[in-house]
Amino acid sequence: MIDEKEVAVIGLGPGGVTASIYLKRYGMTPFAFEKELVGGKVNKTEKVENYTGIETISGPDFGPQLENQLSSFDIQPIYKEVKQLSLNEDGTFHLVYGKNIEHDFKYVILASGLNERPFPINGQETFNSRGISRCAICDGPFYKGKDVAVVGAGTAAFEEATYLASIASSVTLIARRTTLRAPEYYVNNFLSHPNAKIKAPYEIIEAKGNQSLESIVIRNKDTDEREELNISGLFLYVGEAPNIEFIKIDGIFDEKGYIVTDKNLMTKVNNLYAIGDCRDTKLRQISTAVGDGALAASLIHETYQNK
Ligand SMILES: Cc1cc2nc3c(=O)[nH]c(=O)nc-3n(C[C@H](O)[C@H](O)[C@H](O)COP(=O)(O)OP(=O)(O)OC[C@H]3O[C@@H](n4cnc5c(N)ncnc54)[C@H](O)[C@@H]3O)c2cc1C
Repeated sequence: MIDEKEVAVIGLGPGGVTASIYLKRYGMTPFAFEKELVGGKVNKTEKVENYTGIETISGPDFGPQLENQLSSFDIQPIYKEVKQLSLNEDGTFHLVYGKNIEHDFKYVILASGLNERPFPINGQETFNSRGISRCAICDGPFYKGKDVAVVGAGTAAFEEATYLASIASSVTLIARRTTLRAPEYYVNNFLSHPNAKIKAPYEIIEAKGNQSLESIVIRNKDTDEREELNISGLFLYVGEAPNIEFIKIDGIFDEKGYIVTDKNLMTKVNNLYAIGDCRDTKLRQISTAVGDGALAASLIHETYQNK
């Protein structure tokens, strides 16, 4: 017999944490699943900006604050990966997590964020990807006083490149197009560092090295001109996709794999909600994930009350 007060929240980034807190406030019972660290992507950024009320805070400080806030609401995260989510015949959900633990829920909130898609580069297999990273805050300090490059043209790429410019000897940002996706503020901030430069429109042809990365060959997409840059570190901020492999329910995704929701954040399947970065939204930020989490939780509570 399902306890209808229990709600599965899959993923504890800012979206899932907010949903869990609101559910608890409403007297529901969140089952808050997290396979890595509470805080999600926030843990992988050097500096959190654009979040109202907090001028700036380091990502690794912000994540633990979210965890503390969960404890203050007496919510114990379930540190297990959700392996499978499927639909039962009666319209409830079957969840498998950890070492094949099973549980059924009436309501589920998907808050699983984005995954880094593989971004294979020719030649990297010869040095086992040593020198290639997807997290500047985790690996940046290894490149103090060295030359590095960043691939990407969005806000995250510029934010992290700016951080790297304060550590590395030089930072070259490589973008495929001359029109950059990041707002001007982030671009200017990066370029205000004397050791920062942008190469656009360029693509990476090859990575070279023995024990670790030593250089990359890049190609100008307009002129076909090739150039070799001597760098020790390459940071990739490209190739993200929604984290949805565990969802065994058809018809809820768009062509890129984002979860499609209505204005109430519900998918085509009754009582299945999606919030934050994993859904088809125009803006992926902490504030949007948090807003989604609060709304989904309150709508679930309303449905529960009106049943
Ligand atoms: C480098 C970088 C810098 C950024 N800087 C800013 C900034 O300054 N300001 C800002 O507002 N935004 C910033 N963002 C964006 C912001 O981090 C995201 O928009 C936000 O974290 C999205 O929250 P979320 O809850 O949707 O997902 P996420 O934060 O991605 O969290 C999803 C969580 O789900 C977990 N999960 C996934 N699958 C499962 C599963 N099967 N079982 C259990 N757990 C699972 C993951 O481990 C993860 O912890 C930045 C992003 C990056 C990458």
